[in-house]
Amino acid sequence: MIFFVILCRFLSFTSQNSAKLMFKSLFYSKLYEWYETNHRVLPWRETEDAYAIWLSEIILQQTRVAQGMEYYMRFVSRWPKVEDLAAAEEAEVLREWQGLGYYSRARNLHKAAQMIVANGERRKANGECIFPQTFEEIRALPGVGEYTAGAISSFAYNLPYPAVDGNVYRVIARLLDIDEAFDTTKGKKLFHSKIEEFLDRDNARLFNSAIMEFGALHCTPVLGDHCESCPIKDFCAGYAHGTAELLPVRKPRPKVRDRWFTYHIYTDGAHTLIQRREAKDIWYHLYEFPCTEEQTDDTYPFTHVLSHQKLHARYMVHKVQKMPEIPGTLVIRWEELNDYALSRLTLRVIDTLQHKV
Ligand code: SF4
Repeated sequence: MIFFVILCRFLSFTSQNSAKLMFKSLFYSKLYEWYETNHRVLPWRETEDAYAIWLSEIILQQTRVAQGMEYYMRFVSRWPKVEDLAAAEEAEVLREWQGLGYYSRARNLHKAAQMIVANGERRKANGECIFPQTFEEIRALPGVGEYTAGAISSFAYNLPYPAVDGNVYRVIARLLDIDEAFDTTKGKKLFHSKIEEFLDRDNARLFNSAIMEFGALHCTPVLGDHCESCPIKDFCAGYAHGTAELLPVRKPRPKVRDRWFTYHIYTDGAHTLIQRREAKDIWYHLYEFPCTEEQTDDTYPFTHVLSHQKLHARYMVHKVQKMPEIPGTLVIRWEELNDYALSRLTLRVIDTLQHKV
């Protein structure tokens, strides 16, 4: 408790610099000690290659580490340099991304790679492209927000920028007992000013890695007995006040929209029909079976939840002698389905089709 009182003082603008430095350095040493002992070995934390770090950060947006790892390994092995990714077809990138969701990330990744390569001035003597090296240039890439730019700048170049992800919001909210919603404009501003105070400017790489990992592994949403064994509990206002488990606060979630899809699966035994989603809607440029959208009284055996939508799906098999001509569709052989980037829901439907087509 005593540390916490003084911590509050050091975070106030009126506190003495020497007290600030002393308690900051005590806080960092506890946090870093924990990190050295407990952190996971992750390939993108073992490199300073900005391209590889950028790939990992885009893949890990809204994706768990265990799932993202497989995609990261595939991407760096198939496209080891930014030039390789820029030279790929968008369809290939989407195909490799299949199953990860939020496909705009893959499209932006591809677009950004092409922008980096198109910038001919940024080349090493051997002709290789130089990845952007300042926060501002990284932030300007498609698909890169404030968090991702901070993460790449600090992990690749040790630049003094915070990387504030959901884990960091949670840790900061609890350490300082902030009950302002962190996902509002006002809340974001408040949290960013606090994290700027916390940031170890000389060791941003280590600081960001440690506080993110601490949030992911120790200061978790459900705390259990983690506070008792916490190395920084003496600095934690949420712990001292008994409010930690209630934090962080977020703004009320928008209402989820329900949609009902019927997939029409045409087959003559050897072929089927697919179509590419062209509307600026979910799964832009992914392929699926021809789909109609309306709610009926029938049963929809598939449920697929996206961030703001709940999809209910069913399918109807149409066995035909000759494939119909439906505008916007492609006739393909069944075994060619694997060559197209398909939504996860379509893949789930395909899994249940055996013996029915
Ligand atoms: S004491 Fe508990 S709430 Fe506070 S930082 Fe540690 S684990 Fe998180």
